Amino acid sequence: MTITLPTTGERYRPGKLLCIGRNYARHAAEMKSDVPSQPMVFLKPSTALIGSGDTVVIPPQSSEVHHELELVAVIGKGGKNIPAGDALEHVAGYALGLDMTARDVQQKAKDKRHPWSVAKGFDTFAPLGEFIPTDGVADVQDILLRLTVNREVRQEGSTADMIFPVADLIAYCSTIFTLEPGDLLYTGTPEGVGPVSDGDVLNATADGFPTLSIRVKSA
Ligand code: MG
Repeated sequence: MTITLPTTGERYRPGKLLCIGRNYARHAAEMKSDVPSQPMVFLKPSTALIGSGDTVVIPPQSSEVHHELELVAVIGKGGKNIPAGDALEHVAGYALGLDMTARDVQQKAKDKRHPWSVAKGFDTFAPLGEFIPTDGVADVQDILLRLTVNREVRQEGSTADMIFPVADLIAYCSTIFTLEPGDLLYTGTPEGVGPVSDGDVLNATADGFPTLSIRVKSA
């Protein structure tokens, strides 16, 4: 899938999907995980991307796929070792996203101290809504995110509760990876993650954002 930068209209196939784990204290608590002292980063393949109106497929390797509602930033201006004070200038826009997670596969990986790539990287596991430009967002650390499953509210949380704000995440990630235009940053989920089933309809919303609407089916 290609994405369109809301600033220039340029289209990119994202080079990398940077994802942050445990960036909200109450989500870390519900996972019985410690709050990290620095951002916990993992990657998803760009082949996992789908857009609004598309369908998440529960793969045969999992019987417990969870939704994780997240704010997503798209990089407009690349860089390396970006200072936190400049980081938001590197963002072209924001969207709603879902970090779909095969929780049973992830738990086995955690038990064996294996990486999360399989649990997080299945096809269709990175739903992404349409981007709005950064000037449409008054304060990125004051966005109320909401997810309904079959019209019932399952997740509701504010980006005010992020442990590491978006600027710090970009600065940190850029000390490791060269950021390029079109790269995506999934910024972590608030609490309320849970399983999805065949036939479910997920709607992610936030004020001023296009709704991300996703269906779920079993493979
Ligand atoms: Mg997540």
